[in-house]
Amino acid sequence: MPDSPSRNPRIHHHSLAARTVVVAPKRADRPSDLDAAGTIVGSCPFCIGQESQTPPDVLRAPADATLPWQARIIPNRYPVVELCGSPSAELASHTTRPAHGIHEVIIESAAHFHSILEVDAAAWRGVWQLIHQRLAMLDGAPGIAWATVFKNSGLAAGASLEHLHSQLIGLDFVPPVMAAELAAASQPGHSFAAVIEQAAANGCVVAEAGDVVAIIPPAPRQPFETWILPRAPEPLFSATSPERVAAVAILTQHVVARLDAAVPGANYNWWLHQAPFGERAAALSHWHWHVEILPRLAPFAGFELGTGCHITTLSPEESARRLKEATT
Ligand SMILES: [Zn+2]
Ligand SMILES: [Zn+2]
Repeated sequence: MPDSPSRNPRIHHHSLAARTVVVAPKRADRPSDLDAAGTIVGSCPFCIGQESQTPPDVLRAPADATLPWQARIIPNRYPVVELCGSPSAELASHTTRPAHGIHEVIIESAAHFHSILEVDAAAWRGVWQLIHQRLAMLDGAPGIAWATVFKNSGLAAGASLEHLHSQLIGLDFVPPVMAAELAAASQPGHSFAAVIEQAAANGCVVAEAGDVVAIIPPAPRQPFETWILPRAPEPLFSATSPERVAAVAILTQHVVARLDAAVPGANYNWWLHQAPFGERAAALSHWHWHVEILPRLAPFAGFELGTGCHITTLSPEESARRLKEATT
């Protein structure tokens, strides 16, 4: 049955409430293979051999289709945004409009793994190479202003399918958190170079690979929040070098291994922040793309939701010390 227009996702933005909401009715149809206790139920559409249960690949690794796949990117059947033919770069102050964009799933292993620590290092590097390749394809795509990848690992982080995966979203506008970060970085004296310098001075560099570092940021929202970023400015991860892509693969596994050693089974989210595509990236040559890894050790409750402030039990320095000492 064709989708009725009323089921297509729409963006509702209200500047008075400083809020942007995507109303996406089809998301209510999505299956879960996890019950309330996090136990798997039913069959898994992401396992090798079950490809008929999902849309065809957008990209796969290896690219040679005669070889078994190790990772695949597919359209999301239950999209938050869809290509709707009427992109808009701006959020008006009080409006509703079609939610234009691309929403895809990155299936990160052929086997039914549920942790990135089960993937061997070479295959995990292949996953990040695939992500990098797909993001590069979206640079210049009509109606896509900005794109990201994000991961929800565990029920507390919003995962509904156990099989290892993350998601890729391209939007026709720059979303609020990203816009606020970019505005803050345009202030004199505010730079990621200074953040890295401060982290080094405070013992908050957790690990490094090549010229990419993993640091505890100055105001972590939860214990062990970690950012991965290049030492030198680079606005677009989608335009970075193969060496830095490999470094991100190494550091994501390293940080998650340390987190898991410090807090066994910890749920977490991560997401990529990179500059908007096109001319705006050129104007942000001083800025650094980064991956933010946010453990979900405590739920966000009334204080966090009502004030935008966070409460954490560990200082950045203590988080760094415990993460570095955690034995994997
Ligand atoms: Zn599976
Ligand atoms: Zn950020």
